[in-house]
Parts: sequence; C-alpha cells; structure tokens
Amino acid sequence: MLSRLKSGVRGWLRRARSSGADAPTPVKERPSGDEEVLTYDPSSDSPCPPAPILTLEECPVCGSPESTKVSRYNRFVLFDRTPDAASAIYNYSLCHACGVVYAARRPAGERYRWLLERFEETLGRTEVGAPRPGKFALSSSSLTDEARGELRRMVSNGVFVSGHSGLSRKDYLPSLMSDRLASSMHVEILGSLLPMKAPRVLEIRSRLGSISAMLQRLYGAECRAMSLFENQRFLIEEAYRIPAACPIDFDAFEIPFEGRFDLVISNHMLAHSVHPKEFLATVRSRLTPGGHLYLYQEPVETEFLERGKSMFNTLNPFHLQTFNEASAVRALEANGFTVVFCTVRDDLFLALAQAVELPGDTWERMGDSERSRRRSAYRVANDAAILRVPEHLRAPFAKDWDGVVERSLAAGIAIRSKDGRIKVRRVEAD
Ligand SMILES: [Zn+2]
Repeated sequence: MLSRLKSGVRGWLRRARSSGADAPTPVKERPSGDEEVLTYDPSSDSPCPPAPILTLEECPVCGSPESTKVSRYNRFVLFDRTPDAASAIYNYSLCHACGVVYAARRPAGERYRWLLERFEETLGRTEVGAPRPGKFALSSSSLTDEARGELRRMVSNGVFVSGHSGLSRKDYLPSLMSDRLASSMHVEILGSLLPMKAPRVLEIRSRLGSISAMLQRLYGAECRAMSLFENQRFLIEEAYRIPAACPIDFDAFEIPFEGRFDLVISNHMLAHSVHPKEFLATVRSRLTPGGHLYLYQEPVETEFLERGKSMFNTLNPFHLQTFNEASAVRALEANGFTVVFCTVRDDLFLALAQAVELPGDTWERMGDSERSRRRSAYRVANDAAILRVPEHLRAPFAKDWDGVVERSLAAGIAIRSKDGRIKVRRVEAD
C-alpha cells in the first residue's frame, strides 16, 4: 500500500512538472497519461487532517507585523490533484522589516506531518543542488531486519569503492561517496573560516553523515547527526559510527542529544521550519558561547525573480520561508547571530554565523528602496507564474487573468504570438 501510495505521489509530482510548471509557454494539451497517477487511490489513504492551519499576524522570523502579500499559492496549484482545497493557499507575504517572504497561512501539527510523510521524500529528492543518493538509501522510511542486513553488508565494503575493485553496484552504496563529494564544499568553507580544534558538532538534516564524517576525519570533531529517515540514520551510524537520530520535527523542533555544541550545521531548515524564530532560538540555546551556526541549502528568490522560473513551482508546500541574501542576513541578526560569512551559489544561500547577545531592537531593517524594488519584482513574478499555469488548471485565476495579461504585455514580460496566445518571454540564462 505504502509503495503504491508513494509511486502515486511521485506521479503527481511528475505530472505537475511535465504539465508545464517549468515550461516557458502554457501547453494546450494535457500530457499523455502517467499510469502511476491512475494507481493512486485516495480512498485507501487516511484523509489529510483539515487542521491545524496557522494564520500568521506577524513575521515568523523577526516578529514584525507589517507585510505585503506577494503570492497566494504554493506548488500544489500546479497539481491535478491536491490533498484538499486549502493545501495550495499559503498567502506568501514580504516582511517589511527583515525582508523574508513567508507563508502567512501554513500547515502545522498533524496536518504538516501528514503532508511531510507523503511529499517530503519526493519533493526533497528533487531539490536543486541536492545530491541524489541511490534509491536504496532513501526509498523507505522504515527498515526491516532484512534491509538492515543488506545495508550493513553493502556499507562493509566502504565509502570509497574503487572502479577497479571488481565489486558490483549491488555490493556497495555509491550514494555514500557521491554524498561525500557533494558535501566537501561545506567542509572547505568551515575548515577555512573556523579554528576547528576538535569541535563538538551537531549536523541537522544530514543526508548521509558526510560533513560530520569529514570533520571527524580532518579535525577530530565529535559529531551527532539528525536525519529525516530511519535508513539515513542507520547508514550514518553504520558507515561512520556517528550517533544519529531521526526524524526531525519541523514544527516543534527539538535536539535529541545532550549538551552544547561548538558548531551546528543546518541543511535546508530555515525554509521548512514552521516556527523559524523558535528553531533559531533552540539552536542558539545549544551553542557554546560564541559558537557557530552554519546554514546551507536555503533557496533564495533569485530563481523566480531574476531567472524566469515559475514562482509557483519553486515554492513547494514545504518552503514556508524564502528570501534574498540581505534578508537572510537580517533574519539571522534579528535572532542573536552575527554573520561571519555568507554567499549564494546556484540559487542557494549559505552562511556561517556566530551566536552573540540577543540584539534587542538594534538590527537594521530593510530599507524603503529594497522593499519597493522587491514588491515590484514579486508582482512581475506572480504574473509570470500565473501566465505559465497550464490551461486546464487556470480556474483559480479566471478573475485576474485579463489584468495579468494586460500588465504583462505592457511590461514586456509577455508577448502575444500570431495565434493570439500569450507567451512569457524567456529570460536569458546568465
Ligand atoms: Zn520579518
């Protein structure tokens, strides 16, 4: 049942993508049938819990009450079938103070968990920049004794299995090495910027323990890891002897290990946290004085504001926060961190920040010109995303359609082709 459900969910996702979520022009005909979609049977699944849905009156990152609504929908608006009518509506809002864009309507508690259990794996696996570990490593959320034995046998052949070893891919886990290589950039940054004297490290949302393994090898770090899935947890312990725990509660976030850490490494947590302020406070409370937080894989808005991707497609139902670089810095500074280093690579923000005294009200707010520039950019991105919605999914936009078309033609973000159809203009890739 579960695998059937999951393949059905994968089908939904693929359908959403192939049906034009990323296409430059709306497609007229629905793509030919994806049989997996047909095998999904909602009647055999428990229904999506209708509550809780939180309605935020203030920014969940900095607490400011002032914001501008910039988009009503998340990626579910591009799906043929959604968990329920409310699931696509997030009312993304631009905070006037820190500049983070947050879902002002968001699922929490059992509703968030229900969505996560069904969608996180598929959405998460396709995140930009994410390595793709083998199917075996991530495909199930619980493990039978037989699967444990099988994974143990494969791990026993090591992480770096040479191409001339004579071992086949059934005998080891190529995903372990892939993840090590994909994660090495972060260790290069950390090792270059921090003293790293046998630090105590917590890795949150570790995929396969790679960063911890490297810090352990290079700097004698004492590591703990938190993973989303049991199979990841099992592999981290088996491959590297690093104590690991799962799952991760994005709503009531807790750290299931004792003591304080010199360094906390957080993978893609700020975007997903239901209560980001509390998440940062929990992390901060477990850092040694002057300890560091390293955040990575946090998607920034550039992808849809500047590079013409569909905003609806980028903002999947677990992306509760997004930002630009300056806003991410303000978000950290509003929560008791000072940023030591940050950069954006492949539309993903990363930062090294140090815990400092809580700032009171002294952190610098977003300026007027940045606010108005981003409000305009979001309006354009929202119009462009609407124009790219496949025709058979346009009902929610019927009322706004003419206005969107008119604005987009006037602004030059769309053109009318000879057959009268509206096309969003391609943005030149940089
Ligand atoms: Zn804010």
